[in-house]
Amino acid sequence: MIRRDRLMVVGHPVKQSLSPIMHNAALDALGIDTRYSAVDVQPAMLEDFLRAASSTRCGGNFTIPHKRAAMSSMARVSDIARMAGSVNTFWSDGDGVLHGDNTDVAGFEAAIVDLCGEIPTGVNVAVVGAGGSAAAVLTAVQRWPSATACVHGRSPEKLESIRSRFSVVTRTAAVSDRSLSRADIVVNATPIGMVTRELPFPVEYLRPDAAVLDLVYGENETLLVQRARAAGHLAADGLRMLLHQGVAAFSRWYDVQPDASVMWNALLTATGRQM
Ligand code: NAP
Repeated sequence: MIRRDRLMVVGHPVKQSLSPIMHNAALDALGIDTRYSAVDVQPAMLEDFLRAASSTRCGGNFTIPHKRAAMSSMARVSDIARMAGSVNTFWSDGDGVLHGDNTDVAGFEAAIVDLCGEIPTGVNVAVVGAGGSAAAVLTAVQRWPSATACVHGRSPEKLESIRSRFSVVTRTAAVSDRSLSRADIVVNATPIGMVTRELPFPVEYLRPDAAVLDLVYGENETLLVQRARAAGHLAADGLRMLLHQGVAAFSRWYDVQPDASVMWNALLTATGRQM
């Protein structure tokens, strides 16, 4: 078994992260005594922090706001992370070399399989939001057979930038554009609904058979998920994506697969969703 002296999620702020609970449950289940902790690092200190980390046997994740900026500190970056334009997972074997990967892409894809039962074929995907997680979503959608995507955002410059990076994007539109009604799968990749009970778009715009994946998660399911399900849509929030990106990250740090059901139960307990 690979040895890791330190595992962490690096963000600013970071104390809200559920990753320590999920990963410490997986570590306990495998009898590994390394702990996973939340480390608050200000953006201006990130480079120095990672330089010091690279000489230790460490592993971890990045969360807001570091996923894009951390890329320049990685000596090796996976093709998937390069395509997504951000890293959410890193590790070093203590040799000064930091490896970066993006497991949000696999996490999103696995959450879609949980929701729809398989990797969809020939679907039109509407992505609401044009930031880092939208790019991870499009990295996955781009490899689905015969898929197309429309990105909905509020900044024309960001929409144009994301359209130029992903050939799967055939159209862009305003956030609440009625063209959402053409989509088979609608993904909320904005933070709307995370803090306040707000909707990123009116559920009435959706086709009756559209599936909805909200990347946002919290203690309760989001208003979007509740409204979409009440209207008869298949719908899920981002907790399963969090799980799946975490499972993939763990398998980068260690040469074993963690127990996903132990991690899922830890997330359910932490969010108070387990009866
Ligand atoms: P990001 O890079 O900051 O991008 C957010 C996008 O949402 C931007 O395009 C932003 O537009 C747009 N936006 C923000 N507020 C808006 C509003 N009021 N109206 C319209 N558009 C708005 O953030 P991110 O990393 O993509 O994360 C987005 C969400 O996904 C967060 O809630 C995050 O927690 C969640 N997430 C979940 C997982 C998971 O595992 N479940 C993984 C990754 C991310 P502007 O650029 O114009 O500001």
